[in-house]
Amino acid sequence: MKITINGKVCECEKGEYILQVARRNGIEIPTLCHHDGFSGQGACRVCIVEVVEKGRGKIVVSCVYPVEKECEVFTDSEKVQKQRGMILALLHKKAPGSEEISKLCSKYNAPVIDRFVEEPENKCVMCGLCVKACTELSAGAISTVNRGVTKEIATPYHEPSSSCIGCGSCAYVCPTGAIDITQTLSERTIWGKTFALVTCESCGRVIGTKEEIAYAAKRAGREPDTLCDACRKKQIALGFKAIYGE
Ligand code: SF4
Repeated sequence: MKITINGKVCECEKGEYILQVARRNGIEIPTLCHHDGFSGQGACRVCIVEVVEKGRGKIVVSCVYPVEKECEVFTDSEKVQKQRGMILALLHKKAPGSEEISKLCSKYNAPVIDRFVEEPENKCVMCGLCVKACTELSAGAISTVNRGVTKEIATPYHEPSSSCIGCGSCAYVCPTGAIDITQTLSERTIWGKTFALVTCESCGRVIGTKEEIAYAAKRAGREPDTLCDACRKKQIALGFKAIYGE
């Protein structure tokens, strides 16, 4: 089927989300809580767009709004600009420490809100992407704790978690840089726990933490890696050459 986005005709499958269709067609829609590796959450609402069906317009969250029939979509209409600006202004109020949100506020002309108390250092907007990454990719070491204004993402009892394997996926997907992760040549520290890093026995490149390598090996039912991807491929290629020649 076809929909139009900002006047451009775009092919799509029934049930595809508007954000996916727009991105595939090179049309920019800003997001914070969306990551292509996971299903949409609609948590931050930055990706709102206006959908016009049978002459009636409505604002929807594009990462979780499936295309069901032909429609016109506007990613930057006056209504969208106004509401997106307000959403960003409120997110900035919640997480004034996030550079990413400040940049989006400038780009989309978010108004300045003087009300509400703010925590100047806070960078977290509680989008939950880190928890999703940890649950889906790794070990379920972090979760949302408390309620209302005290709600936050943490390890159990704010203690270093025995389930955390130090993979850093949570920090990698965080859109606002809210998770502290530090790394030296030999160690990585995250969520109050320091992990030794393992290097490739051939080229010396960091492969990951001992715990994440063991975890990945266990899931795949093989021995833990001692080579990085590039060196393993090289070794396989050399093996083939030895057997089959040039
Ligand atoms: S570093 Fe720890 S908390 Fe973060 S995704 Fe990996 S296992 Fe989960």
